[in-house]
Amino acid sequence: EVKVPSDIEIAQQAKMKPIADLAMEWGIEDEELEMYGKYKAKISLDILNRLKEKEDGKLVLVTAISPTPAGEGKSTTTVGLGQALNKIGKKAVIALREPSLGPVFGVKGGAAGGGYAQVVPMEDINLHFTGDMHAITTANNLLSAAIDNHINHGNQLNIDARQIVWKRVLDMNDRALRDVVVGLGGKANGFVRQDGFMITVASEVMAVLCLSTSLMDMKERFGRMVVAYTYEGKPVTAKDLGVHGAMTMLMKDAIKPNLVQTLENTPALVHGGPFANIAHGCNSILATRLGLKLGEYLITEAGFGADLGAEKFLNIKCRYGGLKPAAVVVVATIRALKMHGGVKKTDLASENLQALDKGFANLAKQVENIRKFGLPVMVAVNKFVSDTEAEIELLIKKCKEYGVDVALNECWGRGGEGGVDMAHTLVNLIEREESSYKPLYDMEASIPEKVNTIVREIYGGNGAVFSPKAQKEIKKLEELGLDKLPICMAKTQYSLSDNPELLGAPSGFDITVKEVRVSAGAGFIVCLTGDIMTMPGLPKVPAANNIDIDENGKITGLF
Ligand code: ADP
Repeated sequence: EVKVPSDIEIAQQAKMKPIADLAMEWGIEDEELEMYGKYKAKISLDILNRLKEKEDGKLVLVTAISPTPAGEGKSTTTVGLGQALNKIGKKAVIALREPSLGPVFGVKGGAAGGGYAQVVPMEDINLHFTGDMHAITTANNLLSAAIDNHINHGNQLNIDARQIVWKRVLDMNDRALRDVVVGLGGKANGFVRQDGFMITVASEVMAVLCLSTSLMDMKERFGRMVVAYTYEGKPVTAKDLGVHGAMTMLMKDAIKPNLVQTLENTPALVHGGPFANIAHGCNSILATRLGLKLGEYLITEAGFGADLGAEKFLNIKCRYGGLKPAAVVVVATIRALKMHGGVKKTDLASENLQALDKGFANLAKQVENIRKFGLPVMVAVNKFVSDTEAEIELLIKKCKEYGVDVALNECWGRGGEGGVDMAHTLVNLIEREESSYKPLYDMEASIPEKVNTIVREIYGGNGAVFSPKAQKEIKKLEELGLDKLPICMAKTQYSLSDNPELLGAPSGFDITVKEVRVSAGAGFIVCLTGDIMTMPGLPKVPAANNIDIDENGKITGLF
C-alpha cells in the first residue's frame, strides 16, 4: 500500500497565492481588505453594501448521514466540491466554520478539510488565526466579570446568585474547569458562588456572531442575552448590566469574515464556529452572504449529520439570514453505512455488501428529510481506500433505485480533479430542479408543537416526551414571551434517535427532552435530550503530545 502523506505534509506543500492577489481576482477592493499577514485577511462589511444590487450565487449545503466518531468528510467534501466546480469553469467560493483550539489538542484534530481538499494556511487557521476566538472569549468573560461585579456592589438588580446561567469560557479542553468556585478569599473578592467554564465555541457569543446580520444587530442580540434570574424569577440580560455595547466593541473585527484559500486557490471564507448541539453548528450568516456575492456558487457545511446540522441550517440559519438554498449534498461513506447495517467499528475495513444494503436506510431517511424542505438533493460518496469496487457499485445502484442523484467523491485523494463528476452532477441537479425551500415549522407554534414536528418528520420517532423540569421551563418561557423562537435540538449525532446505539433508520421511539433553555440573543430555544458536554476533557494521550515545532518554525503532528 502507498504511504499517504498526512494532512499537514500536504498543506505544507501548498502553492498559496498572496491573499491580496486572490482577493483582487474575485472582485474584492483594496480598501475592503484588511491583511493579517500575507495569506489571511478580513473583509470589511462595507463590501456587502457595495454589492447590494449584485445577484446572489447559488447556495449549496453539504451535510451527511449520521456519522461515526471520525467524521464522514463534510469539510473535506465542501472544500473538494469548491475546487471541483472551479475546475469545470464555475466560480465557486466556500464557507466553513473556524476551528476551535480545544479539539486540536484533544483527539479530533483540526477542522480544515483533509487530504488534497484543505484550506490553508492550515496551521494558522487551526491556531490563533485572526483572533476571533480571543475576541469571543473576552466578550463573554467581560459579561461574567460584570455579573460578579454587580453583585459585589450591592446587587441592585436583585440577581439570585443560585440562578446565574452565564458561564465563563476558555478555548481549551480542560475538564478541571467544568465546575469551579469563584469569589473565594474574603470580602474584597466579592461573594462566593459556584460557577463553571465552557469551551469558547459553546458560548452564546459565538452563536450570536454567526447569526448577526450587522454590527448593530449583534449589539441588540447581545443586549437580549439572559445571564441570570432575579429572586422574583425575572430574567436579567446583558443590557440590564450595561455591557452589551462594550462587548460589541470587542467584536468589531471578529464580525468581519476571514478570507483564506484552498490548496487549489479557491477562495474560502472561514468564519464562526458554534457548537452543533447547544448551538446551531453553522458558519456565519455574514460570510455566507458575502460568498453568495463573490461567486456563482457558495458551498457551505453544517455540523453533525443532516438530522441535526441540515435541520438547524434550514430552520434557524436560513430563516434568520434570509437565505434560500439551491441544493443539498449529503455525504455518505461506505464505512459508516456498514456500521448502520450492524458492522462493528473494528470490522469496517472488510467488504460487507449485506450490511451496506441494510445501512442504506440511514442515507435514505436523510435524503427524504431534505426533500421535506422542498430542496433538490444529491448524494456524494466519500471514497476511502478500504472501499471495494463491489461496495461502491452497490451503493451507487441503491441511490439510483431510490431516485436520488449520486456521484463518487474522490477529493480527499485527488483534490478538485477527484470531484469533477460530483460538480457536474450538482450543476445538473440545480439546473434541472427548482428549489422551493421552506422551513419545516412555523416559529409561532408552541415549543412542544415545534419539537414534535422535528421528532416526527426528521427523526422518524413517535413524538417528544418532556421531563417535569422541561415542562416547567417551557411554561416559564411562555410566560416571558420567549417561546416563539426556532428550536435548537441538542441530541446525539450518532443516531436519528436520542440513543446513540440505535443505528440505521429506527422507528417507534420517543425523544426525551430533559431540559429547555433559551438563547435569547442568538434567538433559539435549546432542547437538551441528554447530558451535553460544554467543556471537553483531554484523552489519556492527547494530540498535544505529538505536536512539535523545530528551529525553522516547521510544525509537525498537527494531524
Ligand atoms: P466532518 O467535516 O464530517 O467532520 P472532515 O472532512 O473533517 O469530516 O473529515 C474527518 C477526517 O477524515 C479528516 O481527518 C479527514 O482528513 C479524513 N477524511 C475525510 N475523507 C477521507 C477519505 N476519503 N479518506 C481518508 N480520510 C478521509
